[in-house]
Amino acid sequence: MRLLVVEDEEQLALQVKETLENEEYTVDVAFDGDSGLEQALSEDYDLLILDILLPGIDGISLLETVRKEGYVMPVLMLTAQGRIEDKVRGLDAGADDYLTKPFAPPELLARIRSLLRRRSEVKSTSITLGELEIDTGTRQVKRAGELIALTKKEYAIFEFLLYNKNRVISRLSIAEHVWGDNFDLFRMTNFVDVHVKNLRKKISPANPGSIVKTVRGVGYLIEE
Ligand code: CA
Repeated sequence: MRLLVVEDEEQLALQVKETLENEEYTVDVAFDGDSGLEQALSEDYDLLILDILLPGIDGISLLETVRKEGYVMPVLMLTAQGRIEDKVRGLDAGADDYLTKPFAPPELLARIRSLLRRRSEVKSTSITLGELEIDTGTRQVKRAGELIALTKKEYAIFEFLLYNKNRVISRLSIAEHVWGDNFDLFRMTNFVDVHVKNLRKKISPANPGSIVKTVRGVGYLIEE
């Protein structure tokens, strides 16, 4: 999952980035409203974390513009304590949730998981797929009760495909959402294939292509 954090308090922004990266999210940071808006409109993000008071255009105007341009990704607003009017304006402008500063990392992560689930119509932290049970809270995958040891990247690919169930996802899109765009895209798509191959061997050893399907020339697909 690829996230954008727009926050001008540099220390907080970098803390949030670190917290999210430890959970294998891919994170970009913008420190002012104008570059935040430019990034939000030019990349394909799964979620935005948006401060309200920013240098350049403020978070509310940024959000209004993003929504007007037709972007539907979930948006979590960061608000200062006691500024109830900010929360109201944020929600009215199209935010999906807000978090009051200061906040604890576990709460931030829980809100993000909740927003990503809502977007994908996954209703609980636990997803069942045939014999597999995926816990998006603990990031554990079990088959018939037995834990499958996935690497962080294998899990991230699996989760991204699950959250986009019934949609064909290109290798490029997987690379962007799991690794971000700091890589050589041509080399990366082969890298994605290697990780998918390993993922398949672990989650469906008897029939590797049965859960994560290949759509020839396009990408990968998990079908319900
Ligand atoms: Ca601020």
